[in-house]
Amino acid sequence: MKKFDFSKLAKPNVRSLKPYQAKEISCRVKLDANESPYPPKTGPNKFVFKMLNRYPDPEASELKKAAAGSFGVPPENILIGNGSDELIYYLTMAFGGTVLSPVPTFSMYEIISMALGEKYVGVQLDGSFDLETGKMPTAIKKYQPRLIFLSSPNNPTGNCFSSDRILKIVEASRGLVIVDEAYQPFSSKKGFIPLLKDYRNLAILRTLSKTGFAALRVGFLIADRDLISEVNKVRLPFNTNSLSQAIALKAFQDKKTTEANIRAINSERGKLMNKLLAIEGVDPFPSEANFILFRVSDADIVFHRLLKSGVLVRNLDSVVKNALRVTVGTPSENNYFIKSLKSAVAENEQCRFSTDTKH
Ligand code: PMP
Repeated sequence: MKKFDFSKLAKPNVRSLKPYQAKEISCRVKLDANESPYPPKTGPNKFVFKMLNRYPDPEASELKKAAAGSFGVPPENILIGNGSDELIYYLTMAFGGTVLSPVPTFSMYEIISMALGEKYVGVQLDGSFDLETGKMPTAIKKYQPRLIFLSSPNNPTGNCFSSDRILKIVEASRGLVIVDEAYQPFSSKKGFIPLLKDYRNLAILRTLSKTGFAALRVGFLIADRDLISEVNKVRLPFNTNSLSQAIALKAFQDKKTTEANIRAINSERGKLMNKLLAIEGVDPFPSEANFILFRVSDADIVFHRLLKSGVLVRNLDSVVKNALRVTVGTPSENNYFIKSLKSAVAENEQCRFSTDTKH
């Protein structure tokens, strides 16, 4: 058989690309991926199974109507994606040109830009993880990005960007500004959907992934209907499968359960924050999301010690020095995490003490 070096065959921008890291690591308590700890109570009705020989509704019309009701916009202003990841891909495919976002942020903005051969510019956030008032406008002027992605609340830092700073960017930009509101349901701040009517170049991303339905892969682009029409041109015909459409529809019909779960997660986030603040050597950042970013003295060591005790968190040392990100879990998961973290950090302090005394 002929030998092929597929990496040489791949386009140069793909050759140098590193795939998104979403490794399955077995653990007792999984707090690494910002998922909800509460699985849905209901599934699709039998009728959906009887229709599995047919292609799904290509427009996901029923689901779109339900989403429109929930977001308070007409269905024409919504595009449904196989997760919001797919919508980021479609936006970049339809409008790319230079893509800009503040950093650190959700890594898919950069990965997708690179995969599609577009230039990506990351602009460092300020010391409070807010949008830089100097560097950001300068970079927009210099690079004239076609797309600016603002994750607010921001993953992985957990804070919302100041609304006035977001709006200044929307006003200054000649391209599109996408406010990615994946974590908005956990935030005390108002989202940007009501402002869509005032700014045509503003678009919003929402997802069902953080509120109990990550496996469905259902995300929403909410924007001007002409913008939606452009993105719809690059959408694959049956991008949202029938099972996901049916279960997502139920999720909108049973908003009470989802809202109760969000309240439970937010209340747990408050408790978790207080417990983290009380641990010496742990420095958590404020959060408006379903996760908390916190600093320790050595993220790699603490990450591996947590894993050894069965707790999986996200090691973000490469983007925020010595930072780990923990997703808010159930009360018992959070208690186990805190217990494990206390001993992981105490071991650290002990090591430091013993090495310090040697010198
Ligand atoms: N945006 C942000 C900011 C995220 O953190 C994530 C998930 N990690 C996504 C989008 C992707 O969500 P989905 O599951 O809808 O593709």
